[in-house]
Amino acid sequence: MFTDSHCHLTFPEFADQMPQIRAAMAAAQVDRALCICTKLEEFDDVQALAASYDNFWASVGVHPDNEDIAEPSVEELVRLAARPRVVAIGETGLDYYQMEERKGGRSISDMEWQRDRFRVHIRAAQQTRKPLIIHTREASADTLAILREEGEDASPGAAGGVFHCFTETAEVARAALDLGFYISFSGILTFKKAQDLRDVAAFVPLDRMLIETDSPYLAPVPYRGKTNNPSYVPFVAQQIAELRKMPVEAIAKATSDNFETLFREVKS
Ligand SMILES: [Zn+2]
Ligand SMILES: [Zn+2]
Repeated sequence: MFTDSHCHLTFPEFADQMPQIRAAMAAAQVDRALCICTKLEEFDDVQALAASYDNFWASVGVHPDNEDIAEPSVEELVRLAARPRVVAIGETGLDYYQMEERKGGRSISDMEWQRDRFRVHIRAAQQTRKPLIIHTREASADTLAILREEGEDASPGAAGGVFHCFTETAEVARAALDLGFYISFSGILTFKKAQDLRDVAAFVPLDRMLIETDSPYLAPVPYRGKTNNPSYVPFVAQQIAELRKMPVEAIAKATSDNFETLFREVKS
């Protein structure tokens, strides 16, 4: 019934946990999960996991925070995206959060390498006709500008995709929707301080919305602070159901249908 559109099941938190996680998913009626790649060095594991289970799929991409790793080219992403069960390009995008603490005091102008890497992913997505999984944090203006510059304007050649783990304003959501992108909400939606985000989730059209855990991070209330896993994604759906005064089953169905519409290959 439920679909987790974004999780990191190859991270060390889950080592040897797959039987328990899959049992928990089944008990919670979480039927499907998209396993997200954050660097080329982990892609083999992500792809192998997706190839092992008929309800897991994979992406290929390099997260904007990752440094001192293999830098992807368009050609390499296109080549890896042809492997079985790979249905998306990412996660990719821009992350300018806490530049002082996290980027050693470098400035946004020093982040040209992130913007170049993002463009490489967009071009690979357009070539493979697979959607983009966008990570953007305190960088929405540049993210939207680069998407537009690279032709991601809802035109026929555009790859489209999803803004994952959305934490931006309603204006950014509107701009992403105008470019034809989907918006995915995580467990952050259940956090006490996230009223602004709940307002955004109340406004995003139901046919353009996905849900995710971003496991192992961001466990929703009542598991906040614990290791997250895909079996917790119904708590995100439940929060959206309450906001929109709809049954949780309707949110589960809409977000699962949207998952199939966006990641077309999960159907075949
Ligand atoms: Zn992310
Ligand atoms: Zn992620």
